[in-house]
Amino acid sequence: MILKNMLQDDSIRHKGLRRKLVEEVAAKGISDKRVLEAMLKVPRHFFMDSGFLSFAYKDQAFPIGSGQTISQPFTVAFQTQLLQVSPMQKVLEVGTGSGYQAAILMEMGARLYTIERHRELFLAAKALLEEMGYRPSCHYGDGYQGLPPYSPFDRIIVTAGATEVPQALVDQLAPGGRLVIPVGNDYGQTMMLIEKLDDGTIKESAHGNFIFVPLLKGKAK
Ligand code: SAH
Repeated sequence: MILKNMLQDDSIRHKGLRRKLVEEVAAKGISDKRVLEAMLKVPRHFFMDSGFLSFAYKDQAFPIGSGQTISQPFTVAFQTQLLQVSPMQKVLEVGTGSGYQAAILMEMGARLYTIERHRELFLAAKALLEEMGYRPSCHYGDGYQGLPPYSPFDRIIVTAGATEVPQALVDQLAPGGRLVIPVGNDYGQTMMLIEKLDDGTIKESAHGNFIFVPLLKGKAK
């Protein structure tokens, strides 16, 4: 029933706004067609409070409750492009938040595990993603530790700003794996790509500056 309402709510107007947003993101330098196609498919306004619908197709971050934000569309596209996800790859997302980034990854065929430290956000995102027909493995807990029982992962994406690269996440990366994580302080972070080569060697590279809400240790109260 809710699903029907949501689908009815994705109007021609929403689709038009979405196309414009995707064009804007492409003009800002995102060239991976699979990323752009996924963004065209996922109704971002489903992930925002109904009072803020007019902001859903602006290239801006926005509040989603519990003091957290849905990432800016360009940032979602940038991280996803850097991650280089192929269908059927096992992907871990740290920081489920609204669930929007999770939906993009699943549109691209990822087998997704996602973890969130705020219980309310975890519950809301899990329910919404399931209503939309996605079947991620949603977890409530501290993503700083990764998800050891489900490791290794082909790809790991962290959608909150870390002060350092958590060793647990590097450990849970499969050979040939990629970890995309913003690293810095409260004022800004550098997008880091950590690659684990087939022989286990770790290679790091920096990919521009962003601002995220902080990656915090432990579950929220
Ligand atoms: N990917 C989200 C972005 C949400 S903002 C989206 O598309 O909407 C980042 C999220 O990371 C917040 O919801 C925050 O609560 C969560 N977070 C921060 N530290 C965390 C941790 N250690 N483990 C799991 N989630 C964390």
